[in-house]
Amino acid sequence: MQAPSVGGVRLPKGKGETVRLPRGASLTDFAEKIDANPASLVQVLFHLGEMVTATQSVSDDVLELLGGEMNYDVQVVSPEEEDRELLESFSISYGSDEGDDDDLAARPPVVTVMGHVDHGKTRLLDTIRKTKVAEAEAGGITQHIGAYQVDTELEGVDRKITFIDTPGHEAFTAMRARGAKSTDIAVIVVAADDGVMPQTIEAINHAQAADVPIVVAVNKIDKEGANPQKIRQQLTEYGLVAEEYGGDTMFVDISARQNINIEGLLEAVLLTADASLDLRANPDMEAQGVAIEAHLDRGRGPVATVLVQRGTLRVGDSVVAGDASGRVRRMLDEFGEDVKEALPSRPVQVIGFTSVPGAGDTFLVVDEDRVARQIADRRRARERNAQLASRRKRVSLEDLDAALKETNELNLIIKGDNSGTVEALEDALMKIDVGEEVQLRVLHRGVGAITEGDINLAIASDVIVLGFNVRAEGKATELATREGIDIRYYSVIYQAIDEIEQALKGMLKPIYEEVELGTAEVREVFRSSRVGTIAGCLVTDGIIRRNAKARLVRDGAVVAESLTVNSLKRFKDDATEVRDGYECGLTLGSFNDIKVDDKIMTYEMREKPRE
Ligand code: GDP
Repeated sequence: MQAPSVGGVRLPKGKGETVRLPRGASLTDFAEKIDANPASLVQVLFHLGEMVTATQSVSDDVLELLGGEMNYDVQVVSPEEEDRELLESFSISYGSDEGDDDDLAARPPVVTVMGHVDHGKTRLLDTIRKTKVAEAEAGGITQHIGAYQVDTELEGVDRKITFIDTPGHEAFTAMRARGAKSTDIAVIVVAADDGVMPQTIEAINHAQAADVPIVVAVNKIDKEGANPQKIRQQLTEYGLVAEEYGGDTMFVDISARQNINIEGLLEAVLLTADASLDLRANPDMEAQGVAIEAHLDRGRGPVATVLVQRGTLRVGDSVVAGDASGRVRRMLDEFGEDVKEALPSRPVQVIGFTSVPGAGDTFLVVDEDRVARQIADRRRARERNAQLASRRKRVSLEDLDAALKETNELNLIIKGDNSGTVEALEDALMKIDVGEEVQLRVLHRGVGAITEGDINLAIASDVIVLGFNVRAEGKATELATREGIDIRYYSVIYQAIDEIEQALKGMLKPIYEEVELGTAEVREVFRSSRVGTIAGCLVTDGIIRRNAKARLVRDGAVVAESLTVNSLKRFKDDATEVRDGYECGLTLGSFNDIKVDDKIMTYEMREKPRE
């Protein structure tokens, strides 16, 4: 059989075999899998209208297109699948408990508090923290580690509940977007004096989309005008029907400020968990869970709060979270006290990572440090490739010209003191929109000081470096100064957003608009062998200015565009401009098709200020 050929390039021919490629693979990766010459793939793509180099990451579409041409069934493997395969290659499975039913033990529910702004989420978390924990522990909770656990009681049995200490659905959704399910129950706080508001509904939608049961805390019942029944009524519209009306959602009236009925809320959380969830996990396996907060501590290095979801985490364990690895040197609880082991649903601060994991990254314990390091390295490499692939604009031959003309990009590197703020800043920056012509691109982001590595990347790619609550370290400043790299330091997100927005606007090309200057009617036409056709005109409107742009209109139709008033005379004298009501003689350069009664309309291109 004849090998297929595109544009004269002979291609390797598949038999419909499946070729699995990771997202962001290059033509070299592809060529390797099918034992072909990467250069021939580059050529083929060129003929198909795509210009890429052999080692550059290409998009899913391009891989599939190319595969189709050569009769291979290309499957682009998603990052999740790839990660699962990566872990499988180390004989690790993430996400399920080991063993059978007998190995599972009850675990406390994990709760996220959501609701409209000012309805009392933060206050509620504070009140629960203070009252519940102070009872048990002399010192009370001294540390904000991103989550805490409280002791309570249900029907005479001691129980625990874990609260995620970041109110709002942003964190909840961000974690879910990364495939981490951290929350078992959502407490939706609604102020009884205010009622159901947009973010209340958003929070409900998020919880329902995640299939997380809801308990409604009707807050601020101490306030005048509080109407808890109205809240119950309003929420029926969103599928939340109170138990007392025959539904299955528990509504609890509380006051976070006056500490009224917090006990009742905790009870409702446990009852809801017992009724609708089977919260059990195997404590006798290597720990797995999710990182909920992480930052770089000056003295202690990377510090991450992890929520153990199954297994038991112990000091000395080798751990990997996202692309950060390490060994648990110390674990601290919310009281700032050392813990030796953490059971399912327990949040603990872990010290011992060599870099800062991201909030929402999954974490797991592996047999050896080496394995943790390898997994982290592979993930980092994959992340980098995927970023390259998504970043690089595909340029087809038709687009190339346009692309070269219009790609106006502001490249950024964002470094910050913890992963939460870096993400928040990046999100906010990416939302800045000054129009299609100018794009913002984040080439790299990370937690910690601005390093020489960051500056080197900046040099290569023409970048502004943002430091949020971090500074440049060591030689980085010197290098940046020498190479003229712009480093900007911020400690307020809005200020960063403002400045970057200004910078983006500054990159916009000026917009010009046409401004009418004046019109002249042709009364006589003279031919001159020296200067061509001279129009003897009367200015009927505005002014005619020498060197202005002009168009010629005859019987209402434009005969010629983009002409220039080359010479302008009042009688024998050169004039720079002639006003309406006066006569003048003018020429339109080499344009000679001028007739009596033609109208010459002149205009100027002026730069239009952007708002
Ligand atoms: P968040 O935006 O939902 O986190 O709301 P906050 O917890 O910051 O509370 C907003 C305001 O409502 C604060 O001034 C609180 O003191 C107040 N607040 C919270 N709970 C109650 C309550 O039960 N009763 C009254 N009267 N005020 C409350």
